[in-house]
Amino acid sequence: MNDNLKRMEELVDILNQLGYEYYTLDNPSVSDSEYDRLMQELLKLESMYPEHVNPNSPTSRVGGKINESFKKITHGIPMLSLANVFTTEDIINFDKRIRKENIKEPKYVCELKIDGLSLSLKYTNGNLEYAATRGDGVVGEDITDNVKTIKTIPLKLPKPIDIEVRGEIYISKKTLNELNEKRIAEGLEPFKNARNLASGSIRQLDSKVAAERKLDAFIYHLPNPLDYGLNTHLEALNFMKDLGFVVNPNNELVDGVSGILSYISEKTKIRSDLPYDIDGVVIKLNNIKDQMNLGSTVKYPKWATAYKFPPLEVVTKLKDIIFTVGRTGQVTPNAILEPVNVMGSTISKTTLHNEDYVRDKDIRVGDYVVIIKAGDVIPRVESVKIERRTGHEIPFKMITTCPICNHPLVKKDSNYYCPNTSCPARHIESLIHFASKGAMNISGFGERIVEDMYNLGFIKEITDFYHLDKYKNELMLLEGYGEKSIENLLKEIEESKNNSLERLLFALGIRHVGLKTATIIARKFMDMDTLMQASEKDLNSIPEIGVEISKSVVSFLSEPHNQELINNLKELGLNMKYLGEVILNEKIKDKSFVITGTLDIKRDELKNMIETNGGKVIESVSKKTDYLILGENPGSKYEKAKSLNIPILNLEEILKMLER
Ligand code: NAD
Repeated sequence: MNDNLKRMEELVDILNQLGYEYYTLDNPSVSDSEYDRLMQELLKLESMYPEHVNPNSPTSRVGGKINESFKKITHGIPMLSLANVFTTEDIINFDKRIRKENIKEPKYVCELKIDGLSLSLKYTNGNLEYAATRGDGVVGEDITDNVKTIKTIPLKLPKPIDIEVRGEIYISKKTLNELNEKRIAEGLEPFKNARNLASGSIRQLDSKVAAERKLDAFIYHLPNPLDYGLNTHLEALNFMKDLGFVVNPNNELVDGVSGILSYISEKTKIRSDLPYDIDGVVIKLNNIKDQMNLGSTVKYPKWATAYKFPPLEVVTKLKDIIFTVGRTGQVTPNAILEPVNVMGSTISKTTLHNEDYVRDKDIRVGDYVVIIKAGDVIPRVESVKIERRTGHEIPFKMITTCPICNHPLVKKDSNYYCPNTSCPARHIESLIHFASKGAMNISGFGERIVEDMYNLGFIKEITDFYHLDKYKNELMLLEGYGEKSIENLLKEIEESKNNSLERLLFALGIRHVGLKTATIIARKFMDMDTLMQASEKDLNSIPEIGVEISKSVVSFLSEPHNQELINNLKELGLNMKYLGEVILNEKIKDKSFVITGTLDIKRDELKNMIETNGGKVIESVSKKTDYLILGENPGSKYEKAKSLNIPILNLEEILKMLER
C-alpha cells in the first residue's frame, strides 16, 4: 500500500473518532479548524484515488450518531449537512458549478452560519407534533420535551397547517460565559464551546436541565416550499416569519460572487459583536426550481455551501513555561503570555497540554506565538513566529522530577505523571476537588480552608474529612473559625454522606470521569458494589462510555488502596447508591411478568432487575400477564400462558429487553 493510501485509512479512523467525540459525546478534543483541515486532506486524497474510498469514510456520511436513550424519528426528507468552502477561489468555483447547469444570473441568499445544532420541527394541524435532531441525517432523536422549553418556538401556529421547518438551536455567548464562570468556580471543566453546550443541553434526558440552559433557535429552512406556492428561498423565509418563527434578521439576497464576498466581509466585521457564535456564512441559491434541478449528494445539497471563517488569531510573546501538577498527578506545561486580547477576553496563561505538543510546535520561551480561538472557549498556542526569533529563545526542556515533591516523573502515553500518591500538590488538589461544589459539595470547604486544614495536619486523606469532629476544640482556637462556623462545617460534612453515588464517583478523581460521565455510570450500575464487579466490557457497553473511560474506571476500582478507601468511606456511613431519577426502561415499565422453570440466573436477581426497571413480577398467569419467562422444566404456568396467547421469553430475550 503506498503512503497516500495508508494516510487515507489513517484519516478515516482519526476523523471518525473525532466525529464520535464531537457529535455523540459533545466533547471534541481538537478545534473545528483542525478537524476541517484533516477533512480537506482526506477529500483531496479521495479525489486522487476514488476507487479506494473507504465505505466508512466520513466524507460520504452526514455526521452524528443517535443516542439510544431517545425515541427515534425518521425524517421524511433527509437532513443533510453542507459542503464547505474556505477561500474566494472556492466561492468562485461554487458559483461556476451552478452557472454550468444553465442558471444564467444566479441570485443567492446569504445567511449567518449559526454555530449550534440542526433541528426539525413538525406541525400537524398547526400544533407542534415533534422536534428532532439531525442525527445521522436519516434518523434523528426525538427532543420534543426539551425543545418545548425554548420560548421562541411556537407550540401552535396561527394557521391549522401541516408543515415541517428546520433551523438551528443555539446558546448565547452570554449564557455560555455565565455557565462557564460558574463551572470554573466549582472546579469543573468549562464547556468547550457554545455548539457543544447547545447539543449537550438539548440531548439531556431531564428537560429541567435543558430549560436552565436558556436555549434559543433560528429557523432557516422549509424542506418543500413548492407545496406552499413559494418559488424562492427568500419567500420561504418570509412565509416562516409570518407563521411566528424567529428567522435571523441578517439574511440578504445578493447577486453573484461579488455580492457573496461583500456579505462575508461585512459579517466578518460584526461577528464578535453578535450575541451568539457563528462559524461562517451559508450561501443558498434562491430559486427553488433551480435548487431542485441541481439536487444533492448523499451528504449535502449542491445548491448551497458554507463558507467557514478562518480561525481568529493574535500574536503575543511567550514569557515563560511553568509546570502544574493536577489531582491525577498529571504534570502539565503552561504558557505564561504577555497579556493579549482575544475576541474580548484577556489571555495571560494557557495550557500547552504536554511535552509532545510543545515539541511538535517547537515552542520556546521568548518566542512570539500565534494564539487562536477556533470555536473553543480556551484559546491555544497554534504556532510560533519563527521569523521573529532573535536567537535568545530558550528551547523547551521537559522536567524529569515533580516541581512540588521532587519525585521522578513517569510517562504514560503522551503525558508525564508524578506517581507519588502523597505528593502535596496532587493531594491538596484532590482534597479540594473532593469537597468542591460539583463533587461532594461540602460547602464552606473552599480552596483556602482545605489548604489550611492540610497544612495543620487535620485533613491529610479523604477519609479525614469525616474524622474532623475529633479536632473540634483545636479548630475553634484557629483564627477566623468560631464555634458556629465549625458546627456548620461539621454539619455540611455529615450531610455530604447522603450524596448520590455519582457525586462520590466524581469526587474520587478517577481519570476521564467528570460529573456527567459519573452520572451515566451510576445510573447504569445503581450502586458501588455492582460497579466494582463491572468489567471494562460492561462499562463499554454503555453507548456514551468509550474504551478509555472504561479502562480508567476499572483500573481505579481494582487498585487495592482505592478499594480500601471506598471501604473506609462505606464504614464511615457514606451512601454508595444512586439516588437520582431512575430512567425506567420503557420496554419493561408497567409490564407484568411471570417466571416458570429453572433459569441460569437466581430468580430473585431477575425479579430485582425487572422491578428496578419499573416492571412487576407476579405469581400466576392471567389475561393481564404481559410476558411469561420460560426456564427448564416449566410448570403448568407454561400451558396456561400458551392457551392465553401470552408472549413467551427465554432468558436471553428478557436480558436483552433489560438492556438500556
Ligand atoms: P457544518 O456545521 O459544517 O454545516 C452544516 C450545518 O450548518 C447544518 O446541518 C446546520 O445545522 C448548520 N447551519 C447553521 N446555520 C445555518 C443556516 N443559516 N442555514 C443552513 N444550515 C445552517 O456541518 P456538520 O456536518 O454539522 O458538522 C461538520 C463540522 O463540524 C465540521 O466542519 C467541523 O467544523 C465540525 N466538527 C468538528 C469536530 C471536532 O473534533 N472539532 C468533529 C466533527 C465535526
